[in-house]
Amino acid sequence: MPQTRSILVTGGSRGIGAACARACARRGWAVGVNYAHDAAAAQALVDELQGLGVQALALQADVADEAQVLAMFARVDAELPPLWGLVNNAGIVGPAIRVEALDLARLQRIFAVNVAGSFLCAREALRRLSTRHGGHGGSIVNLSSVASTLGSAGIYVDYAASKGAIDTFTVGLAREVAAEGVRVNAVRPGIIDTEIHAGAGMTDRLQQAAAGIPIGRVGRADEIALGITWLLDPENTYTTGAILDIAGGR
Ligand code: NAP
Repeated sequence: MPQTRSILVTGGSRGIGAACARACARRGWAVGVNYAHDAAAAQALVDELQGLGVQALALQADVADEAQVLAMFARVDAELPPLWGLVNNAGIVGPAIRVEALDLARLQRIFAVNVAGSFLCAREALRRLSTRHGGHGGSIVNLSSVASTLGSAGIYVDYAASKGAIDTFTVGLAREVAAEGVRVNAVRPGIIDTEIHAGAGMTDRLQQAAAGIPIGRVGRADEIALGITWLLDPENTYTTGAILDIAGGR
C-alpha cells in the first residue's frame, strides 16, 4: 500500500476511534476522522495528526443517515488520497436497562447506528476498494464487543445483540468479498477506559469492572488500536473473517 492511501475511522474523534486514528497516522497513513456532534474534538485531533506529517480531515456525519454517509465518502474521494481502509468504529450504548423496559425508539437508534451504519459505510467502502468495482483492494475492520458473547444481561442486551449482528456481518462480508482484494475482520474489545460508559450513565462501571477481568484491569484505547492497525496492515494479507478478542482474558 502506498503511504498516501487513506483510512476512514468512523467515530474517530475520541476513545478507541481517536487512538486508532493516531496509530494510523504514526504509520504514515492519511486519516479521515468522522464524528457526529463534537466538531472541536475532531478538529483538535486532525490538527494533532497533521502535526505528525500526514493528511487528516474531520468529517461530520451520522453513520445512521444514508445521505450523510454518501456525502462523507464524497469528501473522502475529493479531499484525501485513495481509500485503503475503513474502521467501522462509531457505536452507541444506552443507559442500563432490562429488556422488559425497552422501547422501540431506543432499539431502532442502537441498531441504526451500530448495525445499519456499519453496513452503509462498508457498502460505500466496497464500491471504492473491491476489484469488482475497479478498486485495488483494502481492509475493513468492524468494532464488535465481547458483549456479543456474554449478552450483557440486566445492562444492555440490545447493545450486545447489535454487536452479535456485527460478528455475523463480519464473517459473511469477509466471505462475500474475499476474492475481490478486500479483507474484512472485527475486533472484539472487553471493557475499555473511554467516555462511552459515563455517557450511558454508568459512571462507576470502570471502577467496578477490574475485579471480573482475568488480567486484573480494564483496557486502554491504544491496546485496541494496536489490533485494529494489525488487521488494517497491507502486509496482513491472509487474515479475513477473523474476530480478534482484546479483552484481558474476559
Ligand atoms: P466513545 O468514547 O463513546 O466514542 C464514540 C465515538 O463515536 C465519538 O467519536 C462519537 O462522536 C462517535 N459517534 C457516536 N454516534 C455516532 C454516529 N451516529 N455517527 C458517527 N459517529 C458517531 O466510544 P468508544 O468507547 O471509543 O467505542 C468505540 C467502539 O468500540 C464502539 O463501537 C463501541 O461499541 C466499541 N466498544 C467499546 C468498548 C468500551 O468499553 N469502550 C467495549 C467494546 C466495544 P461525537 O463525540 O461527535 O458524538
